[in-house]
Amino acid sequence: MMRAAVLHGPGAPDAFCLEDVPVPPVGADDVRVAVQACGVSYRDVVERNGTYKRDVSFPLIIGLEIAGRVEATGSDVLDLKVGDHVASKAFSSCGRCRLCRSGRETTCFKRRPVRGGYAQYVSLPQDAWVRAPADLPFELICSLGPGAGVALNAVRDTARVQIGEWVLVTGASGGVGAPSVQIATAMGGRVIAISRSAAKVDFLKSLGAEHVIVAREGENFARQVKALNGGWGADVVIDTVGSRTWAASFDALAVHGRYAVVGQLFGEEISINPARIFFKRAQISGVGSVSRVQLEDAIDLVARGIVTPQVARVMPLSEIAEAHRLVEEGAVAGRIVVKP
Ligand SMILES: [Zn+2]
Repeated sequence: MMRAAVLHGPGAPDAFCLEDVPVPPVGADDVRVAVQACGVSYRDVVERNGTYKRDVSFPLIIGLEIAGRVEATGSDVLDLKVGDHVASKAFSSCGRCRLCRSGRETTCFKRRPVRGGYAQYVSLPQDAWVRAPADLPFELICSLGPGAGVALNAVRDTARVQIGEWVLVTGASGGVGAPSVQIATAMGGRVIAISRSAAKVDFLKSLGAEHVIVAREGENFARQVKALNGGWGADVVIDTVGSRTWAASFDALAVHGRYAVVGQLFGEEISINPARIFFKRAQISGVGSVSRVQLEDAIDLVARGIVTPQVARVMPLSEIAEAHRLVEEGAVAGRIVVKP
């Protein structure tokens, strides 16, 4: 048996029941991991409170940002062995379809969601796991997929930042924003960070931002951006906020600029005269989730000190209700991590 935080139905943060349940079995394609750390994401919050219903049935153990040690492997598992340190992707994919075979596994039609990190053990298909160096703390690597992994997807693989380009990052101190600042800087970009908080200026400069613009929500910061480089603007926008920074960010986009849409924190629509897209010769790209290669490379960037994950608090699994309250209220900057 193992200790787990089990949901018997959707509900408030105190819906979790700490129970002893059977250790999950290991199928031929599975790897069972002794969980050492699990990030609490907003996805967990919406699965717990009933907003997110896809593939959800109860009783359920959630938690998708998992890091731990391999404890057992199925007969078809070749690349991982007992004792390896691993971190999870947000999904496992089939590995055989044309999307998987062309580096686009995040949209594999047969992908399966990862869950089960709020427990001592979790068993998942081998494709869900990526190996990590043994000397990296588990609480630093558990949440890399949705943080630095997505940032790498956006900055390196979607926007393809070039040395010397101006890179505007919105929501720059957030979970994707902060690693985007670090990765764009490492790639030779000149980063302009947008933040709502004057208290974040020093932090963002420590990550490598050349300029930090403090803007109120909805404020149009485009003129301030263009004042920094003779009216040119941003060659690349990494937009982790969405609707509320869209208008200013698109105004700030330079001609021939690339606009990577990474996040949408609010539900509103945006509007644009399509002519503005071709007048600027703009490219607008959607960025979603993380491939295996991107997660492997994100782990490597942490190992080399190029990306520094922000962990706000490490709490025992027994305090999962409090952890969910904090995340749902947006009361912390950086990830909350639970340890079973
Ligand atoms: Zn596939």
